[in-house]
Amino acid sequence: GSTIGILGGGQLGRMMAMCAAQLGYTCIGYAPEGDNVSAPVSSDFFTSRWDDTAALAAFAARCDAITWEFENVPLETLDALPEAMVHPPRRGLETAQDRLKEKRFVEDLGGRTAPYMAVDDASDLERAIERIGTPGILKTCREGYDGKGQWRIASARDAEAVVLPGMPTVYEGFVTFAAEFSVILVRGQDGEIAFWDSTRNEHEDGILARSVLPAGAEVEAQVEEARALARQVADALRYVGVLTLEFFATADGPVFNEMAPRVHNSGHWTIEGAATSQFENHIRAVAGLPLGDTRTIAPRIEMANIIGKDATRAQDYLADPAAHLHLYGKRQVREGRKMGHVTRLPGEG
Ligand code: ATP
Ligand code: MG
Ligand code: MG
Repeated sequence: GSTIGILGGGQLGRMMAMCAAQLGYTCIGYAPEGDNVSAPVSSDFFTSRWDDTAALAAFAARCDAITWEFENVPLETLDALPEAMVHPPRRGLETAQDRLKEKRFVEDLGGRTAPYMAVDDASDLERAIERIGTPGILKTCREGYDGKGQWRIASARDAEAVVLPGMPTVYEGFVTFAAEFSVILVRGQDGEIAFWDSTRNEHEDGILARSVLPAGAEVEAQVEEARALARQVADALRYVGVLTLEFFATADGPVFNEMAPRVHNSGHWTIEGAATSQFENHIRAVAGLPLGDTRTIAPRIEMANIIGKDATRAQDYLADPAAHLHLYGKRQVREGRKMGHVTRLPGEG
């Protein structure tokens, strides 16, 4: 088959579709109303609700394989699609959609997490703070991204002022870390796994600002252990496609933060910086093709996100011969919104 359906209309789907086109595939998108920036690079785009079973059936009829670029696709949407066509597996989405589920899943496999407790009401929060202490972070179990749906709690007094969001949350102790990094892997339909190098990820205001290679000694010393855990997670889920696990490098070793059942912002550098990008390998895995070489092909790489109003000055990067500019074509600039990114391979300049 040669048509791949992509659930979600964001920049991850846009970059996926651009890679798929290079391999001769046609992509069709599906997402509810919105600024669907993958639509212009797709051969067709279904704009319909996640629970529109008739539209989903029409979409599936056009596809040979289906994947997602958005981790909050409802499970009911997957259930309306032919299971054998969908990669990664439903269980990957189900596990990674819920912070409590993913933490328990990773702990069962022997991974380390921040101390945490489920919080459904004010008395839970009080108990969580008694047991875990402050500082800490309260996070919604579902639907958070870029630090949205999170409240930092510096002291027990702070906690009294917190208005719970009316949905399940988890309270986590604040982790002291030397650096943050992610493990990005791809698993093929035959179970083969390949890893990209781990970047050092720097966040600002809860949003990824930069990913850099080399990642530095603190990260490099912990990548092997983190990869072993990521491999166990991928195998246990019988995962197919790109999977990302975020870690804190701490004095006690790698501490798992969260996972994403998809290509990841901290892997955008792989477009120019790796022999095969995360987007291409995701498409290869979903289409049942052999995986490509994941090796890094430059000594130094820096990916920086272009966020909010910074997009107005993005074209300045065009003057830099080491810079590869990506703009997502979003119609609306909003504070904290990811508008594009630039990958610099300084050796090139
Ligand atoms: P993403 O866009 O990566 O999905 P998210 O909204 O799911 O983000 P997290 O990854 O949970 O958010 O947190 C965002 C950032 O906040 C982390 O990368 C880290 O810098 C910081 N952070 C989150 N949890 C903790 C913690 N328990 N201890 C220390 N820092 C934390
Ligand atoms: Mg997240
Ligand atoms: Mg995160």
